[in-house]
Amino acid sequence: MENSPVRDYFHNIYQTMRTILIGMRISLKYCFAKTITLQYPDVAPALQPRYRGFHFFEVEKCIACDLCAKACPVDCIYIEKTGPRKIDKVTGVATGGLMTRYAIDYAKCMFCALCVDPCPTECIHMGNIHDLSGYDRESMIVEFTDLAKKGMQTPQPLWMTKPDAEVPDWARQRKQEWLDFAHSRDKLTGDDGRRRDEMMKAIDPKA
Ligand code: SF4
Ligand code: SF4
Repeated sequence: MENSPVRDYFHNIYQTMRTILIGMRISLKYCFAKTITLQYPDVAPALQPRYRGFHFFEVEKCIACDLCAKACPVDCIYIEKTGPRKIDKVTGVATGGLMTRYAIDYAKCMFCALCVDPCPTECIHMGNIHDLSGYDRESMIVEFTDLAKKGMQTPQPLWMTKPDAEVPDWARQRKQEWLDFAHSRDKLTGDDGRRRDEMMKAIDPKA
């Protein structure tokens, strides 16, 4: 069938009206939906399985190739190293130069996950931490190599660093999950002591 300007004109009007009505239908549905207030932080937020929160970074597997930083559309990943690194196929960890800095500026990050896909060693992941706050822009830069010195692979919200007695049960469990490297699925899974050793070797010349 041949396109005619008149047919195109009415077709465009039809498409416009149709998409507006589809959008309005969704808005109207929520206008009449029951309002739910979640008493966070007393009650755990229900995060979807593919929720994209603050990153989870495995420094012991990072080869400092910069592919994640190059893929980032807002240039918010900062990497510094003393030399090239490569994965040892037997142990599954990276050897070579040291990772002197791996940081992400969350004042800029859009949580788009474009940094995750190009990583050849699958050591940067979107995590499930959803809350992190600070009083200035500098405090929104997370130094993952500094976290690694404390045996951590992802930042913790401030209130999660409080004594166990002062946080709700669900938070206590999640805190332990993070410290237990529950997100890692590799040759070091289940061997947390060894992983901590490898993390230190990746960042500290004296380790
Ligand atoms: S999630 Fe997106 S914006 Fe954030 S560091 Fe990764 S690529 Fe950059
Ligand atoms: S792409 Fe992966 S291996 Fe390369 S620098 Fe980024 S996190 Fe490290």
